[in-house]
Amino acid sequence: MAEPILNQPHFQDADKAREHLEALRWPHGPVCPHCGSVREPMTLEGSKNYRPGLYKCKDCYEQFTVTVGTVFERSKIALNVWLQAVHLMCASKKGISAKQLERMLGVTYKTAWFMSHRIREAMTENMAGPLGGSGKVVEADETYWGSEGGSKAQSKKSGARKAGGALKDSNKVVALVERGGKVRAFHVPSVTGQNLKTVLESQIHPDTHVMTDSSPRYNLLKREHGFKAYEQVNHTKAEYVRGIAHTNTVEGFFSVLKRGLIGTFHHVAPKHLQRYSDEFSFRYNTRTALGYSDADRSAIALKGISGKRLTYRRIGGE
Ligand SMILES: [Zn+2]
Repeated sequence: MAEPILNQPHFQDADKAREHLEALRWPHGPVCPHCGSVREPMTLEGSKNYRPGLYKCKDCYEQFTVTVGTVFERSKIALNVWLQAVHLMCASKKGISAKQLERMLGVTYKTAWFMSHRIREAMTENMAGPLGGSGKVVEADETYWGSEGGSKAQSKKSGARKAGGALKDSNKVVALVERGGKVRAFHVPSVTGQNLKTVLESQIHPDTHVMTDSSPRYNLLKREHGFKAYEQVNHTKAEYVRGIAHTNTVEGFFSVLKRGLIGTFHHVAPKHLQRYSDEFSFRYNTRTALGYSDADRSAIALKGISGKRLTYRRIGGE
């Protein structure tokens, strides 16, 4: 029988966790965070300050560890517990609540909440370059989150419109998915023909074949767009799939996002919606079908959390 994943040494032992993080962040050996020196540092062995993982730069003589300047450095939570949290979030398709992390990691709810938000922030990808390109298809769609009654996810086909005609434009997520590729999701304050057009044209390569549903919000795009091709699928006529013209891929992404928002997190405040969208996008963009394992996904998130230098100070505004 296979050994449980969380029994691996770097999940159980703080020193092993540090070595794991060093190998990820410094594949070619330690890099001084103070001056950028890559010369092999001193280890202070024999001195009273010696501890494993503490280095002294041969160029600027400053001391450092792999966690200096990161959220891990001043955290009271052992590094191996952080690694467990990262793994659990990366391996849970619909996300994992702070309540669940509290139980599984044996930390307080406040700590679990803090950790999950820091990890979520590390999952934010920098979106360099456009989606799509020649021969590629990108599907775009919006979904509505929340209603006057509370924080319930609603499909635009059912809830939001039925609830009195006018859509409340407070919580919307616009997602663009390249078939066989990546997703980008944006929490937008309101959805108009103009800002949809702006989002699509700024994020999608002009040589792309773009598909959306036939919402009147896309009328502007239908009249004038800068893409190689643009097609609409008319859901009201039960025309969900016409050849390659469909939006099933982006709807699949929304379906996982909503199952997470409803089933796992229950109450997501609008101010956090972008972060949750980023978390789901991150897992989608590193999904198994693209060749990533849970360990690969965790490694990317860990590099993000240490590389982004997330500090305690940044939680102050929340
Ligand atoms: Zn240095």
